[in-house]
Amino acid sequence: MAYDFDLFVIGAGSGGVRAARMSAANGGRVAVAEDRHLGGTCVNVGCVPKKLFVYGSHFSEDFEDASAYGWDVGGTSFDWDRLRDNKTREIERLNGIYAGLLDNAGVTRIWGTARLLDAHTVAVGDQTYTTENVLIATGSWPVLPDIPGSEHTITSNEAFYLEKLPERALVLGGGYIAVEFAGIFNGLGVETELVYRGPLFLRGFDEGVRECVNDELVQKGVRLKFNDNVARVDLDGEERVVTLTSGEQVRTDLVLCAIGRYPKTAGLGLEEAGVKLGDFGRVLVDDYFQTSVPNIYAIGDVIDRMQLTPVAIAEGMCIANNLFTGNPKRKVNYDNIATAVFCQPNIGTVGPTEQEARERYPELVVYESRFRPMKHTLTGRAEHTLMKLLVNGADDRVVAAHMVGPDAGEIIQGLSVAITAGATKADFDATIGIHPTAAEEFVTMREPRAG
Ligand code: FAD
Ligand code: NDP
Repeated sequence: MAYDFDLFVIGAGSGGVRAARMSAANGGRVAVAEDRHLGGTCVNVGCVPKKLFVYGSHFSEDFEDASAYGWDVGGTSFDWDRLRDNKTREIERLNGIYAGLLDNAGVTRIWGTARLLDAHTVAVGDQTYTTENVLIATGSWPVLPDIPGSEHTITSNEAFYLEKLPERALVLGGGYIAVEFAGIFNGLGVETELVYRGPLFLRGFDEGVRECVNDELVQKGVRLKFNDNVARVDLDGEERVVTLTSGEQVRTDLVLCAIGRYPKTAGLGLEEAGVKLGDFGRVLVDDYFQTSVPNIYAIGDVIDRMQLTPVAIAEGMCIANNLFTGNPKRKVNYDNIATAVFCQPNIGTVGPTEQEARERYPELVVYESRFRPMKHTLTGRAEHTLMKLLVNGADDRVVAAHMVGPDAGEIIQGLSVAITAGATKADFDATIGIHPTAAEEFVTMREPRAG
């Protein structure tokens, strides 16, 4: 039977766009359906606008720091509407670029909500399309807590379009989005409190990193409340009255919930088509992203392996390779995927935490350095940088690098190449540093940390 398409992609986000473009480039007849925004979460309500807001929020410190370098900046003021609208204009520009990328690759763009009628038929509105293969790349959606008054809270989706910047904000959660937005709000002058249910936020990151970020956020004026949670939210006029499980009440203007994102699979017709789902609606796939129905594949946040854009893109590349080239089938190697958290200062990390590495490598050697960045020797700002290298003493291989400090993501990206290539501590030691940089510390740490 001749199908309308070789591949029908549902969702034009990070993973879907890459899979569609590369599949078409390899000769596939490809369609992609999107119902919200081209470029998906990352471009519209994720990585890109978030990073622009992080840049915007850091100026408050830059203005303060300027005076030690001889600059009198004068009175400063902040215009939220201008930042928000400039950001939105940039996102719209990127939406256009994504449309162009798909069009130039020969991908058929279809606007609307897609759902499966069966394994080879997709409906969008009242149109139906037949396809040999289907790719589910529908991403994820933020979760709200199941508490009274959750309708008085927002998620990151809304945070990017606030009509007015609040004077006070309470951020619920202790993951990526919570610490990033706590830093953004705080930098923009919002009185910010972060509430996290466990003893220390950023669970899953290296403990030294978590403690360092804790100290830096407190020092910058973010109020941190651990071992507590939001029990209910009531409205008092415009104010949100937040009752914590500890019984404490907090009055605030905005409550941002950042407690995770669930795979977006509701209403897609997946189970009816025979696709098996796991917890929270996650699509179950094998190493090659094939679901329980052989011609239906899934990638990105919807499979909930690592909710990161470069991971969704790498998975999309595998789909294009595996379906549309005669090359050997490829899968993604999830080891040593570097990541950054754009809190202030940033976290950059690759490889296992010290705690995980101790279990894996009995002869682990830890190198650690904590210092005040050179810039702040003049400003007097009490900000510190942390760098850690973890080395397997048995074969001298560097197995992880962790950093908290300005541009940590930029620095760790380079180191992740060395670690992926299997560099040893001797290779790091033989590398001549770039002076004066913070990054050179990674090639000059000679003495293992005591203890
Ligand atoms: P998405 O990019 O979400 O794309 C899915 C698309 O499918 C969406 O456009 C959606 O509208 C569409 N869709 C869904 N259902 C249907 C349907 N039935 N019919 C048609 N279309 C449909 N990652 C990083 O690596 N670095 C970061 O700095 C970073 N920052 C982030 C900040 C925030 C606030 C958030 C929320 C996420 C961030 N992420 C970051 C994560 C990153 O955005 C995601 O991992 C990535 O976008 C996942 O790509 P995806 O293709 O799986 O899904
Ligand atoms: P995360 O999974 O990173 O963090 C969720 C946080 O919410 C955790 O601290 C979790 O606590 C807490 N939590 C979960 N359920 C509840 C609850 N019912 N009540 C109170 N707290 C709760 O999710 P995010 O929403 O921050 O971000 C989603 C994903 O998006 C990230 O995991 C990441 O993959 C991606 N992302 C990546 C970014 C980047 O690369 N820089 C930036 C932003 C997002 P506990 O730890 O105790 O389970």
